Amino acid sequence: MGKTIIFVDDLNLKPCPFCGGKAELKQYKMWHDDHGYKDCYEYFVACEKCKVRQLSFDTLREKDDVTAIKKAIEAWNRRSNGS
Ligand SMILES: [Zn+2]
Repeated sequence: MGKTIIFVDDLNLKPCPFCGGKAELKQYKMWHDDHGYKDCYEYFVACEKCKVRQLSFDTLREKDDVTAIKKAIEAWNRRSNGS
């Protein structure tokens, strides 16, 4: 009955825009268990070094995990590009 965990092999995360540290995709289970959201997760990218993190994208709002992950990566990379 376990949920399939999605692995995105080629994440292509850019380094942290603030310190240049390594970025990491995080997955957290959402806490709305009482509301029937048992299989919902939130995803965001965070820097391993300075711990800065972006806003999260979740299964519920984005309809599925893959979309949430892609949006999280896109948002991070866009920020990293900013001059
Ligand atoms: Zn950083």
